[in-house]
Amino acid sequence: MKTPITPTDCFIALGSNLGDRHAHIRAAVESLTQLPGTELIRVSTIIETEPVGPGEQDRYLNGVARMRTTLSPQELLRHLLRIELERGRDRANSPRWGSRTLDLDLLLLDDRVIDEHGLTVPHPRLRERLFVLEPLAEIAPDWRLPPDGRTPRDLLDLLRRGTTGASVRPTNG
Ligand code: ATP
Ligand code: CA
Ligand code: CA
Repeated sequence: MKTPITPTDCFIALGSNLGDRHAHIRAAVESLTQLPGTELIRVSTIIETEPVGPGEQDRYLNGVARMRTTLSPQELLRHLLRIELERGRDRANSPRWGSRTLDLDLLLLDDRVIDEHGLTVPHPRLRERLFVLEPLAEIAPDWRLPPDGRTPRDLLDLLRRGTTGASVRPTNG
């Protein structure tokens, strides 16, 4: 008999500021529900946020989805990149943090810390981004982030008061 695999709780950031933003976010959520070995638990309110990336950009829609999955982190990331491509994401022809049809970032996976080529979890810029912390704090205010156990509620409060010491980067991507 196969040993059952314990599902992992994970949080995915969703973002879009190009084309039919609502359709891209809706399709992304639908695609997440179809992933093998995965259950969608909850999606935050989708908020509209000011662009802070390079050049002139339209406003973003941002949100966070919570899931449980038996996929490995690497498999999950591969699926996220595939779903982005299905919505026309074109990295080759846009600058870093430029406008995009769909961006799906793997924010958190249980209390795991991963630092590999092409995959860093927790997402390295999550603590400095209001457009991630606001929806994350809505659906998981008391989740403990590795490595220090700070919660989205704490981190949001710190960021709003400008006391994280994190440099705020010019992007919502
Ligand atoms: P940012 O990472 O600052 O949010 P971005 O989302 O615009 O910027 P992308 O061009 O979408 O960056 O991603 C570049 C690469 O980042 C991806 O190909 C992926 O391999 C890598 N990456 C590393 N860690 C993660 C993660 N936790 N979630 C998503 N992608 C990641
Ligand atoms: Ca990304
Ligand atoms: Ca991103």
